[in-house]
Amino acid sequence: MQSFIPSKRTLMGPGPSDVSERILSAMARPTLGHLDPEFQRMMDEVKGGLKDLFQTENRLTFPVSAPGSAGMETCFLNLVEEGDTVVVVRNGVFGDRMRENIVRAGGIAVLVDVQWGEAPDLADVEAALEAHSEAKILAFVHAETSTGVLADAEALCKLAQAHNCLTIVDAVTSLGGVPVRMDAWGIDAIYSGSQKCLSCTPGLSPVSFSEKALDKVRARTSPVRSWFLDLTLVMNYWDGEGGRSYHHTAPVNALYALHEALVMISEEGLEAAWQRHQTTHTALAAGLEAMGLKFLVDADIRLPMLNAVIVPEGVDEASVRAHLLAAFDLEIGAGLGPMAGKVWRIGLMGSSATPANVELCLTALADALNRHQYPASGAAALAAAKSVFAA
Ligand SMILES: *Cc1c(COP(=O)(O)O)cnc(C)c1O
Repeated sequence: MQSFIPSKRTLMGPGPSDVSERILSAMARPTLGHLDPEFQRMMDEVKGGLKDLFQTENRLTFPVSAPGSAGMETCFLNLVEEGDTVVVVRNGVFGDRMRENIVRAGGIAVLVDVQWGEAPDLADVEAALEAHSEAKILAFVHAETSTGVLADAEALCKLAQAHNCLTIVDAVTSLGGVPVRMDAWGIDAIYSGSQKCLSCTPGLSPVSFSEKALDKVRARTSPVRSWFLDLTLVMNYWDGEGGRSYHHTAPVNALYALHEALVMISEEGLEAAWQRHQTTHTALAAGLEAMGLKFLVDADIRLPMLNAVIVPEGVDEASVRAHLLAAFDLEIGAGLGPMAGKVWRIGLMGSSATPANVELCLTALADALNRHQYPASGAAALAAAKSVFAA
């Protein structure tokens, strides 16, 4: 075997996003023991930074030592007990994974199905909560990465509260890119991922739990169906009274990277980061529309960080992506599930949300489309994007 030297790509898919040299070099610092007091001081700062990001005072806020899917499992396995009814909104791939998690935890999933590319319908959710007064939890995806749709998290949480339900919210793609206000909206359990709008390497899943959520965990009559993700055990490491005890070996260097990512977000300012995602999205959209391309999702519910663009009739979508990768070292995403072959998913997440990336993407896409019998003017697209940045 030989050392693996990856190519330098620009990552504009559904995650991971570009990771800066600054974060990569933080990761290369000397490994400390995970119970070293110096390391534990850094962990406390990570928890504080995550609280700021989630806009919460929740004491139990920490990164699960595994990717976003593990944060998802942490929420569902701890909060859903055998026989619990959970109303779950399904408007894409990740809503369906929530259903799968509920069932595996022994719960009963009541589905509110929404057509892919559309936002959760509040009236349908309310009807499901009314028809199922036994429901204990409402679960939904804030930013559906498979379709590029933003849910009205505040309104959905209000509905849940009016029906005495806790909320589990997937903020893997939304956190850091659009407002997420855990306490103000009354979210009880939330999970995210390090590799999307936080600009960090993949492999960590920030989570946070309200006191109400923890009360439900404490009141369980059966053990959590995972040893690794059992909050009552993990808490002793992340939140241990009088010193932390060993639970599992923390991914020390990955946590340096997350710490650095949080420093970078605090330097930029959270609101400035939200604005950057919005502006780069508006510029990209102007450029794409100048080439005659159409979005899957209506403008008022569109995610800035995940742009689902309809593949024009007769264009081979995989071949276009292959050209972008080969000729421009640029990665964009394919459609998932029923959207496979029908859309491209262009990410503007974290460090990837820059004017330079928008311009690269428009230039590359125009070149690729022209090679695929779809006439597109890269110059017109660039002019449209630049006029947004100049405004
Ligand atoms: C990426 C993503 C996940 C899963 O995160 P992983 O880090 O890939 O496990 C979950 N939910 C949404 C909305 C996502 O975009």
